[in-house]
Amino acid sequence: MNTCSRCVLPESFPGIAFDEQGVCNYCRTIPLPDAAEKASHLQRFESLLDENRGRHVYDVLLAYSGGKDSTYTMMVLKKRYHLNILAFTFDNGFVSAQAKLNILHMTDSLGVTSVMVRPPLPLMRKAFATAAEKDIYSPKTLDRASSICTTCIGFVKSMILKTALVYDIPLVAYGWSPGQAPISSAVMKTNPRLQRITQRTVRDPLLSAVGEELGTYFLNETDLGIPAERWPTNIHPLAFMEYDEERIIREISDMGWVKPADTDPNSTNCLLNALANYLHRRRFNYHPYAWEIAGIVRSGSMTRGEGLAKVTQDEDMNMVRYAAEALKIKV
Ligand SMILES: [Zn+2]
Repeated sequence: MNTCSRCVLPESFPGIAFDEQGVCNYCRTIPLPDAAEKASHLQRFESLLDENRGRHVYDVLLAYSGGKDSTYTMMVLKKRYHLNILAFTFDNGFVSAQAKLNILHMTDSLGVTSVMVRPPLPLMRKAFATAAEKDIYSPKTLDRASSICTTCIGFVKSMILKTALVYDIPLVAYGWSPGQAPISSAVMKTNPRLQRITQRTVRDPLLSAVGEELGTYFLNETDLGIPAERWPTNIHPLAFMEYDEERIIREISDMGWVKPADTDPNSTNCLLNALANYLHRRRFNYHPYAWEIAGIVRSGSMTRGEGLAKVTQDEDMNMVRYAAEALKIKV
């Protein structure tokens, strides 16, 4: 298959076109953040922390999966910026045992309070099996993540926001890597109007396909009625900090974080990932992490060769079958 000569996006990726050098239109048109842009975001971020530190019960609510990027983000927020963190973990029923140990160990070591929300497993199974087997989302929604991941991230983002609103926490932090989310959204105030629109892409199709009982995990009219000035600011600091996967893993490993051996190579916390990737590649003929990895390659934090290896590697079929059996679906 034809692949961009600069990043890792293949010809099967939606909306792609190559020029005579074999470089894709995304590489040609997406501006790379320069040092000045990173510095100005860092400055905005640091003054935001100064404005909010110590004024609420918690300074920041961190979306904490126990994976490498959110663990590193927690370390930075605590050790470099001395924030009072509430770490929020959404247990989708398929968090690897090692990731759970990492969550307990890292929050204990860093002196961070942790909260875990775990919906009943049969309900999560039903949601993920439906997302895996039926076309419930628009194809556009799935450009950058598999159907199973999109479902889970939908729960996570809504539950995080709901928790921040209920506990009156001014900042919400994510460990998005530079390829996962653009620098332009690295410091961004949330608001009820935008949230209403966002909920349509995941919440609405999910509730109509699986059931209204999933509404518990999304924002309701009461939440959406909270005045805009009380809504938190989202931050994802890895977008404007130096991102080097090897160094991140080394630094958190020094604190006792252990890389799970039971997950897909692209995930350091979820046991459904191999199945999610397998189904996406089979249906769309490109890897659901292609967009993210292309972004990391473009930013220079990963070589094109390393990126290509990640997006072309076949899934471990034992992991695929394990997850398919757990969801009671056929592959
Ligand atoms: Zn490209």
